[in-house]
Amino acid sequence: MYAIANNISSPEAPSTRLWMPERVLFTPAALEEPYGQQILSRVQSLNLPIEELARNRLTGLRGESDRDTYNIAKRTLAVVTAPPSSFKLSPIPPSADWQFHIAEGCPAHCQYCYLAGSLSGPPVIRVFANLPQILENLAAYEGSDATSFEVSCYTDPLGIEHLTGSLAECIRYFGTRTNGYLRWVSKFDAVDELLDLPHNGHTRCRISVNADPVSRRFEGGTASVASRLQALRRLALPRSSGGGGYPVGLVIAPIMSIEDWETHYTRLLDSISEALDFDCDLTFELISHRFTPGSKEVLQTWYPQSKLDMDEETRTVKRNKFGGTKYVYDTDTMKTLRRFFEGEITKRFPQGRILYWT
Ligand code: SF4
Repeated sequence: MYAIANNISSPEAPSTRLWMPERVLFTPAALEEPYGQQILSRVQSLNLPIEELARNRLTGLRGESDRDTYNIAKRTLAVVTAPPSSFKLSPIPPSADWQFHIAEGCPAHCQYCYLAGSLSGPPVIRVFANLPQILENLAAYEGSDATSFEVSCYTDPLGIEHLTGSLAECIRYFGTRTNGYLRWVSKFDAVDELLDLPHNGHTRCRISVNADPVSRRFEGGTASVASRLQALRRLALPRSSGGGGYPVGLVIAPIMSIEDWETHYTRLLDSISEALDFDCDLTFELISHRFTPGSKEVLQTWYPQSKLDMDEETRTVKRNKFGGTKYVYDTDTMKTLRRFFEGEITKRFPQGRILYWT
């Protein structure tokens, strides 16, 4: 196992944002897994307070109010085993063919968080100790053509990597596959331990970014956008220049029609151009802000003081085939935003591919 402490204290490495939980809980089933023992060694080497639970259920995570429960949960790492249901994968268009999970929950505090309404119960960060079984299961979903697997639907895998090492395991696994390709995305920046992995071009590393006022106001607990872009630069640089030589991507999300949005997003695109001033395999994913009745209700409990615009009156309702409702920007706003991003990206990054706008 690599020395995690180096990542924290190395004078050469740029300083990175590392989340340290106040409590680390292990279920008995997680401790029976050899990979659970590896996670245990990591958290022991970081001197984090560890509790071994008597049962496999997580209890005692609720506070006196919803806000207390949120605060307790977001400071807690729980090492558990993924349930049998998680071995049946679901598609995740337009991002990838399949999604799989190495963890659920995220230590950051984004006031628009995509997880709100998707995961039930207190937002504790659960990581899965049966990772080798989770990876073995993926082979059955790999087709005879390139098949992509998204690992960041329910977590920010880089945000907890110093505690788990699970993202590196995934990258190594996909480096050995013929048709399997991994995709992950993050708002953190501690990429040192990923740079030398044998990825074989089968992992696309993406960083999620936003305009400065959106990131500063709404993305608590994350690395700054400038640090994320430096991390992406290091992942994308060729190995001969000390980088990771990975295919990379930008997820610009959630795009918000804030005051002076054109100026702020132009600055963001300028920063991306500066960070990626060399040829690389680059993609863009463009996601406009949206919310559902369920996510709004959860977010208002988590962030009661938030100034995030979730006014249904100014949005258009979009229904999915399962009868779910989401609130998106109206058609004119969508068209204007889309035209701006597609035009600017094509002009600045002729080698970049825009994968989708939504
Ligand atoms: Fe939610 Fe992603 Fe922010 Fe984590 S980084 S709080 S998953 S939006």
